[in-house]
Amino acid sequence: MLGCFLKKREVFVMKKELFGVTSGGKTVYLYTFENKNGMKMTVSDFGAVLTHLWVPSKDGQLVDVVLGYDQLAQYENNNNVYFGATIGRNANRIDQGKFEIDGQVYQVDQNEGENQLHGGFSGYHTRPWLVKEVDELNQKIVFLLFSPDGDQGFPGNLSLEVSYQLTDLNELIISYTGESDTKTVFNPTNHTYFNLNGHANGTILEHSLQLDCSYYTPVKDSKSIPTGEVLPVANTPMDFKQSKKIGRDINQIVEQLQLTGGYDHNYVLDETKQETEAFVHLIGDQTGISLKGYTNLPGVQLYTGNFIEQEAGKNGVNYQKYSGLCLETQFFPDAVNQVNFKSPYIEENVQTVYETRYCFDA
Ligand code: BGC
Repeated sequence: MLGCFLKKREVFVMKKELFGVTSGGKTVYLYTFENKNGMKMTVSDFGAVLTHLWVPSKDGQLVDVVLGYDQLAQYENNNNVYFGATIGRNANRIDQGKFEIDGQVYQVDQNEGENQLHGGFSGYHTRPWLVKEVDELNQKIVFLLFSPDGDQGFPGNLSLEVSYQLTDLNELIISYTGESDTKTVFNPTNHTYFNLNGHANGTILEHSLQLDCSYYTPVKDSKSIPTGEVLPVANTPMDFKQSKKIGRDINQIVEQLQLTGGYDHNYVLDETKQETEAFVHLIGDQTGISLKGYTNLPGVQLYTGNFIEQEAGKNGVNYQKYSGLCLETQFFPDAVNQVNFKSPYIEENVQTVYETRYCFDA
């Protein structure tokens, strides 16, 4: 039986290719895994970024469904759009870059005006990571990063592992394991932009989206710090409880959409939802490729690529506004300062694991 299994797997490949040498002199690679259905993912030890994800469409074509770059130098400057990025220590925004843990005030990097966005000036997505493990049999790779006490302004020596796995069920599983020697913030996410019609194939406005969330956290102003409220989506354009085209209500003249130029909001995942129940179902209108998402994190930022402007990407493509959308599973924005939001802290010496699974079909 085992022999049979191994034989079957022999046809699958893990390809390691040179990606380049960073401006800091580190040699980094691209790792491509293929499953038995021909689905492929490519990730890099630079930034633990996801660069490519080829999914078979109904007619058997392989479609690369994630936005990205061709050049390493572009990933080194990936601080506006965060293509495919592993974000840390803290996803999303921190008001004034300031918060308190047990009476001690911390001032972290302020890289977006007075606020912090996605970990500050030196986000984890712009650093070389170590490769801890390549598991060819299970199409899995584990990256490792050490983030010392004071890094980006956060307390605690944090060891962080991020793994990517491509299963034979066409699932992309991203998991995050963190442990620190002091209580600290641990709120990682992945900033992949999906376009299920293909990364080079127009906008996501005709995709159908169903988000099984009854509540979202509105923003105060165009700087996108939350008001602290948790409001129902019912009877607003924010409502995706029933599947609808993303473009259907995106241009409605309502304050929340105008402030952020489209959807750029955190949705609250139902606490009673099992990890086996999908919180999201997205379908590309042209390819029929669908994605379902599962997670044990409490929120998801739906970001429809509102601020992408003429971004030179893979294969000579110029990405535009709405070329892709992110489903960033995370603790809520500014959760470090909001009493109503679940806090994103991990306790001293307690290993914490978060996982998000995207399952593809056509
Ligand atoms: C944020 C957007 C921001 C984008 C950066 C998203 O996670 O919610 O406001 O512009 O990241 O590319």
